[in-house]
Amino acid sequence: MNMDYAGSKSDATSALRFDNRFVRALPGDPVPDNVPRAVRKALYTRVAPTPVAAPRLLAWSDELGAQLGIARPEPEGPMADVFAGNRLLPGMEPYAARYGGHQFGHWAGQLGDGRAITLAELIAADGTRQELQLKGAGRTPYSRTADGRAVLRSSLREFLCSEAMHWLGVPTTRALSLAATGEPVVRDMFYDGNPEPEPGAVVCRVAPTFVRFGNFQILAATKEFDELKQLAEHVMREHFPGIGSVEDWFREICRRTGLLMADWMRLGFVHGVMNTDNMSILGLTIDYGPYGWLEGYDLAWTPNTTDAEGRRYCYGNQPHIAQWNLARLAEALAPLVPKTEPLGEGLALYAETFTRAWSKALAAKLGLSALDQPGDEELVTDLFELLASAETDFTLFFRNLADPTVDSLRVAYYGEDLPRERLQAWLARYAARAKDEAGRVERMHAVNPKYVFRNYLAQQAIDALAAGDASVLERLMRVLRTPYDEQPAESDLAARRPEWARNRPGCSALSCSS
Ligand code: AMP
Ligand code: MG
Repeated sequence: MNMDYAGSKSDATSALRFDNRFVRALPGDPVPDNVPRAVRKALYTRVAPTPVAAPRLLAWSDELGAQLGIARPEPEGPMADVFAGNRLLPGMEPYAARYGGHQFGHWAGQLGDGRAITLAELIAADGTRQELQLKGAGRTPYSRTADGRAVLRSSLREFLCSEAMHWLGVPTTRALSLAATGEPVVRDMFYDGNPEPEPGAVVCRVAPTFVRFGNFQILAATKEFDELKQLAEHVMREHFPGIGSVEDWFREICRRTGLLMADWMRLGFVHGVMNTDNMSILGLTIDYGPYGWLEGYDLAWTPNTTDAEGRRYCYGNQPHIAQWNLARLAEALAPLVPKTEPLGEGLALYAETFTRAWSKALAAKLGLSALDQPGDEELVTDLFELLASAETDFTLFFRNLADPTVDSLRVAYYGEDLPRERLQAWLARYAARAKDEAGRVERMHAVNPKYVFRNYLAQQAIDALAAGDASVLERLMRVLRTPYDEQPAESDLAARRPEWARNRPGCSALSCSS
């Protein structure tokens, strides 16, 4: 426990150094009122978090805290107050960012940080600069008709999944803290006209910047080209050192996004709401909402019930949607370049990068150094047909393929009847192909995790925490920290989704309500 600041005035927090480049360098909203409205000629509005009734720290990421130089706070106290939005530290300059976006393929106009408030840019202990942002911190001019708050269930999901993604080696925004507000938040979880009060919470998210594709889109849409140029130059200068032109910068965004999609696909991660306002300019996974992890392999699967009909953001569509989103970003950046052809080349680079990274990931998932032998393509195609032919757990199948026998793969099947003959035949081909691969199992274990943050596990942590028990959450944080390790004592957390969880809300599919 941190004794540095507790009860003392010259506490550890006063040692934190902030350098708020975004608000210092860029034009802010001249209107001070915190009322919903269309903001013009500005990239953000200064707004402070709205204090909550009873702040209490529920969870903390020690590893991230150490990286930042912030000690774990007492559950109730001055620092817990900061992470619930009840207190600002000297040097913090809170703001909500202005952005727009395409939602489900349609231009939605101004969106903006409707419940997220950046407190400051911290000069972290490791020398990096990191934005500290509270999600669920109250209304801003971008809240439209909503309340600016977040419920505990979605906050826990964002907190833990951000960290789990980082531990899996995937670029992501991070999460430092989860705080209860002591205030109810009313949500119609099932969209059936029965809103219910739920416990509220605030997550402190951390990233070098939370700028999204949509921050550029809104400025292009309203023809605020000076502001567009300023934002682009700022982001390039502060976050893409060494890159001198918008064309090269866009190529780099495309490249990073291609690598990110290969990571999501390799892990069976489905974001659920890949609107352009949920696409990070840094190529990070951002905005954890109704996401999920493939359990039964199915290209058309989405955890987001709001998208159940169109399936725009289903597992198999993600690489295509990322490119569509990049094309919208290219349109927004077009006013900044003399010719748009280089932006088109960026989109082509995205496709190349993704294709190459995905092929490399598939090879590694199979323990092969490359998919470069005659017959490899067929081996992979046939594998995915096999996986789709009976409900097969994506994570367990690849993890257990290290020992390629029907017996070891039995646990990956949800039904009683496995496609035994087909599986046997494919395994024989695989064994012949893989027999001379040195380091096969190590290669597989480095990309095929044993533990992912399955939705039913999230729900178990939520249920326990709602009953005052943080042990499930804490155990998950510990185990998910090394997801590629066997950790035999924790194997129950690697189990395929139990049948009770198949149709329970939150355990497989979720609504957007959060
Ligand atoms: P999301 O679907 O979470 O990416 O959010 C889309 C837009 O809705 C963003 O502008 C969010 O800030 C806003 N939003 C979502 N939930 C709330 C809320 N409870 N209060 C205010 N704004 C919200
Ligand atoms: Mg969002």
